[in-house]
Amino acid sequence: MNLRSNEPYWLVKNAFENSYPSLQTSITTDVLVIGGGITGALITYQLVKEGREVVLADRRDVCSGSSAVTTAMLQYEIDVPLFQLIEQRGEATAVSSYKNCEKAIFDLKKIVEETGSKCHFELKKSIYFTADKGDEKMLEEEFHARKKFGFSVEWLDRNQLKDLGLIARVAIQSDSGAVFDPYKFTCDLLGLCAKKGATIFDRTEIKKIRPRPGKMIATTPEKLTIKANHFIHCTGYESVKTVSKKIVNLKSTYALASEAFEALPFPFKNHIFWDTSSPYFYFRGTADNRVIAGGGDEPFKNTTKRDALLNKKREFLTRQFNRYFPDISFAPDYIWAGTFGETKDGLPFIGRPKPEINEHYVLGFGGNGITYSVMAMDAIIDSMNHNNHIFLNDYGFDR
Ligand SMILES: Cc1cc2nc3c(=O)[nH]c(=O)nc-3n(C[C@H](O)[C@H](O)[C@H](O)COP(=O)(O)OP(=O)(O)OC[C@H]3O[C@@H](n4cnc5c(N)ncnc54)[C@H](O)[C@@H]3O)c2cc1C
Repeated sequence: MNLRSNEPYWLVKNAFENSYPSLQTSITTDVLVIGGGITGALITYQLVKEGREVVLADRRDVCSGSSAVTTAMLQYEIDVPLFQLIEQRGEATAVSSYKNCEKAIFDLKKIVEETGSKCHFELKKSIYFTADKGDEKMLEEEFHARKKFGFSVEWLDRNQLKDLGLIARVAIQSDSGAVFDPYKFTCDLLGLCAKKGATIFDRTEIKKIRPRPGKMIATTPEKLTIKANHFIHCTGYESVKTVSKKIVNLKSTYALASEAFEALPFPFKNHIFWDTSSPYFYFRGTADNRVIAGGGDEPFKNTTKRDALLNKKREFLTRQFNRYFPDISFAPDYIWAGTFGETKDGLPFIGRPKPEINEHYVLGFGGNGITYSVMAMDAIIDSMNHNNHIFLNDYGFDR
C-alpha cells in the first residue's frame, strides 16, 4: 500500500535550503533569467558580478529540475569521443570543446572556493573503460587522439584495472575529473546571488514572451508581467517547448544510490568511471560514502512510462555494478529517473536562436551539461552585446 504521495510538505520543506517568494506584482528589470537550476544560478552569478540588474524566475521551487537528479560527474570527456567529434565538427571545434570542458572543471572549482559552497567538490581521475572486446579498437583510437592533442591520459590494461577493483579489459585514465553535490551548490549559489542583489522568484511560471523593440515582456499565468531588456532561458529540457527547431533527442535515464558504506569503497576514493556501452553506465562515490550507479537510458515517451520502469532499473543497475565491481557488496537504497537529452554532436546550444531578438538560451545538453553551463558564463555578456565569441559560433542555433 502506498502510504503517501510523492511530496509531503515536511519532507519537501526540510529538503529545500532556500525558498523564495512568488511574483505578486508586475515588475521591470534589465535581465530576466528563466529557470533556477544550476545553469540559471551560474548565469545569474556571472551577471551579478558584471553589475547587471537580474530577476530570476522558476516555475517550480528552485533547483527541482534536472539539477536535483543529476549524478554530477564533471568530465571534459564529451559523449562523442574526440576522434569522432573531429570527423563531425572539424579539429578546431572538437579540440577546443574538449579543452574548454576541461577548463570548466577547474573554473567550477574556483567558483566553489570563492563562494565557500559546502558542496563537497572533489577532483577525481576519470576512467573510460570497456569490458567489450569489440570496443577496444575504438578506445585505442580515442587514446591516441587525446594524447596527440595534449590531454594527460594513461592507458590501463586488465591487470591495472583489477588492481583498481574493476573487472574490464582496457581503459583510458584521465587526470581531470570531479564530483560534487549539485543541489547544495545550486542552492548556495542562488542564496549568494540574492544577497548580492539578484531578485529570485520561485513558483513563477513564464508562460508567454512577447519580443518587442526596447523592453520585451514576459507574462505569467496570473497575467503579471516582467519587462526586461534581455531574457535568458536556462530552462533545461523543457526548452523543447519554446525552441522551434528540434535540437535534442529526449531520453529517460536512471540513477541508483547504494546504502552508505562505513568508508567509501576503495575504487571510488580517487576515481569516477564510465564505460563504452551505448547507452553508457557510470559510477561515482559520494561524500557520505554511498556509490551512485547510472545509465539504462530509454527513449522518452512520458513520465508515467518512465517511472513504471524504476523497479526493473534498480535490478538492472545493481547487476551492472556487480558485474564490474564484484568485490563490493552493493545494497541499493534510492532509485530515481530523470529526463536527459543528447544533441547530434554532443555539444550544447548557447546564444540567440534569432539574432534580432534579445532572447538567449543556455542549453547544456548531454552528459557534460554542467560543464557546458559553466562555459556559457564566459559567453553570455557577448551574446547580449552582439559580440563574437567562439562558443556562440561553435554552439549556435544555425548549425
Ligand atoms: C540522471 C541524470 C544524470 C546526469 N548526469 C550528469 C553528469 O554526471 N554530469 C553533467 O555534467 N550533467 C549531467 N546531467 C545533465 C545535468 O543534470 C543538466 O545538464 C543540468 O542539471 C541542467 O541544469 P539546468 O539548470 O539547465 O536545468 P534544470 O535543472 O532542469 O533547471 C531548469 C529550470 O527551469 C525551470 N523552468 C522551465 N520552464 C520554465 C518556465 N516556462 N518558467 C519558469 N521556469 C521554468 C524548471 O522548473 C527548472 O527548475 C545529468 C542529468 C540527469 C537527468
